[in-house]
Amino acid sequence: MRCSFHPEREAVAACVECGRGICEECKIELRKRARCPECAQRRSGLITAAGVLNIIGGVFWLITGLIFVALGALFGRAPGAEEPGKAISLVMSVFGGPGLILGGLGIAGGVAALKRRLWGLALAGAILTWNTLSLVFLALRRRDFR
Ligand SMILES: [Zn+2]
Ligand SMILES: [Zn+2]
Repeated sequence: MRCSFHPEREAVAACVECGRGICEECKIELRKRARCPECAQRRSGLITAAGVLNIIGGVFWLITGLIFVALGALFGRAPGAEEPGKAISLVMSVFGGPGLILGGLGIAGGVAALKRRLWGLALAGAILTWNTLSLVFLALRRRDFR
């Protein structure tokens, strides 16, 4: 078999995605699977998309959490309405705190995906932030992670 990109060279492996022959120079190996440069490119695009989606989702949760915590603090200090204000403040804090944590996890998972590391963290970030699209990409491309 010849290399698909260098017809004059003998192939040393076949791409696991498209099956084309690849020479030593063209071969891109990850987790002991050889890929051609074209498939390696496509592969990284999907996980990069998942990482970006995770970060966007994380930022959304972070902002939502911040708004809730800020509103909670505001209601807690509202003069006059003592009891309802405190109750609203408590509810806001209860929702806001986890929102901040989820946001942080989403962003951490996104960064992990961009680095192709810690697949579990990337997946947890996608699940906890309800990032369905990112979750699908990560589930499909687990083998791209180190
Ligand atoms: Zn290929
Ligand atoms: Zn080649």
